[in-house]
Amino acid sequence: MSITEEEKIEKLREEIRLHDYKYFVLAQPSISDEQYDRLVKELERLETENPHLITPDSPTQRVGKDLTKEFKPVTHKVPMLSLANTYNEEELFDFDRRVKEALPAGEVAEYVVEFKVDGASVSLNYVNGYLKTAATRGDGFVGEEITNNVKTIKSVPLKLTKVDSLPYKLIDIEVRGEIFMKIEDFLKLNKEREEQGEKLFANPRNSTAGTLKMQDPKIVAKRPLNIFVYTLISLEEEYNSQNENLQILKRLGFNVNPEYKLCKDINEVLAVCRKFEAMRDSLPYEIDGAVVKVNSIRQQKILGSIAKSPRWAVAFKFKARQAYTTINKITWQVGRTGTITPVAELEPVFLAGSTISRATLHNFDEIKRKDIREGDKVVIEKGGDVIPKVVSVIISERPQNSKPAKPPDKCPVCGSLIYKPEDEVAYYCDNSECPAQVKGKIAHFASRGAMDIEGLGEALINLFVDMDFIKTYADIYELKSRREELINIERLGEKSVDNLLNAVEESKKQPFAKVLFALGIRYVGAGAAKKLADHFKSINDLMKADEEEISSIHEIGPSISGSIKDFFANEINRNLVSRLRNYGLNFSSEKKVVKENFLTGKTFVLTGTLSRFSREEAGDKITVLGGKVTSSVSNKTNYVIAGENAGSKLTKAQKLGVKIMNEDEFLKHLDEALRQ
Ligand code: AMP
Ligand code: ZN
Repeated sequence: MSITEEEKIEKLREEIRLHDYKYFVLAQPSISDEQYDRLVKELERLETENPHLITPDSPTQRVGKDLTKEFKPVTHKVPMLSLANTYNEEELFDFDRRVKEALPAGEVAEYVVEFKVDGASVSLNYVNGYLKTAATRGDGFVGEEITNNVKTIKSVPLKLTKVDSLPYKLIDIEVRGEIFMKIEDFLKLNKEREEQGEKLFANPRNSTAGTLKMQDPKIVAKRPLNIFVYTLISLEEEYNSQNENLQILKRLGFNVNPEYKLCKDINEVLAVCRKFEAMRDSLPYEIDGAVVKVNSIRQQKILGSIAKSPRWAVAFKFKARQAYTTINKITWQVGRTGTITPVAELEPVFLAGSTISRATLHNFDEIKRKDIREGDKVVIEKGGDVIPKVVSVIISERPQNSKPAKPPDKCPVCGSLIYKPEDEVAYYCDNSECPAQVKGKIAHFASRGAMDIEGLGEALINLFVDMDFIKTYADIYELKSRREELINIERLGEKSVDNLLNAVEESKKQPFAKVLFALGIRYVGAGAAKKLADHFKSINDLMKADEEEISSIHEIGPSISGSIKDFFANEINRNLVSRLRNYGLNFSSEKKVVKENFLTGKTFVLTGTLSRFSREEAGDKITVLGGKVTSSVSNKTNYVIAGENAGSKLTKAQKLGVKIMNEDEFLKHLDEALRQ
C-alpha cells in the first residue's frame, strides 16, 4: 500500500516537529543543520505542490507574511496576577504561616519552587491540541493578542504532542509562561543595533517585550526568543498539583525549566531558594528570584487571591546587585500628586545589564538618616524592576568641603510654597496647577493601564502643557478643535496629529474601571479601580457611597475610601468628571445602548431641580443613551430640560428659541428609549 501525499506531508511535519523539540527545547539535536534544512525544503516543496494540504500548525507556517496592524485586546479568563515579594527568611516563613492559617486545621502544605525568569509573560490558548491565540499579560485583566509573533518562537509548539496516558482531556487549556532572551543573544542584538545607530535595549526583558510588540513577524522570527512555561489551567477540568502540571506540560512538548523542586516544607523551600540564588550568575538567562507555589491546586483554590496577587504563591527575590559610584547632584522631582521626591544624579555606572545614572532617595528623612550629600561616594543597588536606590554612603571618602543636603524651600518646578503633612515624610507642592503635577496627572491618565492614548507620551504632554493647549486631562478631549494649530507645531505632521486625535477618540471606549483608575485618585491603583467598578457599577453610586460602604469591599481599606471621599469633595474634581462624562467616557459598567433613539446625537442642558433624580443621574442616563449634556445653552442645544426653580438657563433658552422639556416629558423619552 503506497502512502498518500497527505500522509507523506504529515509524516514530514512530525519529523520536523520532533527535531525542533530536540533542538530548541532539549538543546540536543540529533541531526545536522543540513539534514534538517533538507527536511524543511522537502516539506515546502510538497506543500507548494499541494496548497490545499497546508495547515496552520505546519512548521512552514510559523512566520506569517502580514503585518500586525493592531494588537487586539484579549480578556484573560483567569486574571494574570503579580506575585507578592519576599526578601528574606522571615518573610518567607510569614508566607508559610499565612498559608497554614488559611487552610483547614492540620493540613500540611507542600510547595513547588521554580526559577523566576525575567522576561515577558504570555498566555497561550490551545484548543484540541492546537495553538489558537497568544496574549500578553497587559494589565492582568486584559492583554493584547500577539499570536503571529509568538508563533515564530520555535520552542512554542503549534501542535501539542499526543499523550494518551493522561487522566485529563486538555481540550481547551491555557498555558502560561515566560518568553525571554538569553543574555548572550541580548548582548549580540544590542551590538548589532549599536552598529546600525539604533536605540539600545536596556536589558533582556525590555528587548523581549519590545520584540513581542513588533508589527512584522518576519523580524520577530529573526530575534532569538525562547519560552519557559510554568502554568496549566482550564476552566473545564480540575488538575491535581503544580508538580503534576509541570510534568504534563513537559510531556505535551513544552519547554519546562528543569530546575523546579517539590518541597515538603518551608525549610526545604528556603534551601532551594538559596541554591537558586547561588546559581544565578552562571545561568545563560536572567532570573531575579524564585517563585514558591503551593503545590496542591485544591489548596490553591482555598487560598484564593487578593487584589493583585494570589495568596498561594510568592516570589523570593534575590539580593539586589550592587555598584559603587558618585552622586553628582541631588535634584527634586515633583510627582502627579505634588510629592517632592529627591533624586540622586549619579556618575553613570553599569549594573546588572544596564547603565544607571539616577537613583531615588525616597524622601528627605532618608537623606538625613543616611546623611547623603552631593559629591558622596555611594553604594547603589538595583533589584529587578525597581528604580535603583542608594544603600550606603562611604563616609571615609567624603570630599572635604561637603555640606549636608537641604530640602528645597519652594517647589523646584513652579516655585510655590511647599508643605509637609504631620503624619507623612513627604513634602508637597501646594499648587494644583503646578506644571509638574499637571503633566504627571495627564501622563497617568493617558498611560497604557488607564486611557491608553497611544502617541500621547511624555514629550507631547510637556509640549502641550507648556504651550497651554491642555491644563487638565479633560482638555485632551478638546484637542480636536485645535487640529490646525497642532498640525502647525513643528515636528508634528498632519498624519501624526490625526493618529493622535483618533487615539483620543478611541480612548472613550475604555471601560469604567480604566476610567476610574485614570482619574488618578490617590491610592486607587488599577486593581482597586477594578474592584470598585465591579462593586459600584457607576460613578454616581461610588460618589454617593459612604466611606464605610467603600471600605467594606474586600481588599479596599480606609486609606482608599478616605482618599475617594476627598477626591469627590473637591469641586474641581467633580467638574472634571462631569466634563469627561459629557465627552462620552464610560462612567458606568452597564453596556451602552447602541440602538438609535430619541436622545442619540442630541445635546441637552439641564436646569433647575428634578424630582426623580439628581442632575448627575439624569446626565448619566442621557450619555448612556448616546446624547450629550453641556453646561450652557447655545444655538447648538437641542433641548433644555427644566426642573423646579429653573433660572437663567431657561430664560436664555426662551430667548434663543431652544426647545424646552419638563421632567415628565423627559421621563417619557427616557422610557421609550430604554424600552427599544
Ligand atoms: P511580578 O510581575 O514581579 O509580580 O511577578 C509575576 C511575574 O513573574 C509573572 O507575570 C511572570 O511574568 C513572572 N514569572 C517568572 N517566572 C515565573 C514562574 N515560574 N511562575 C510564575 N510567574 C513567573
Ligand atoms: Zn509646583
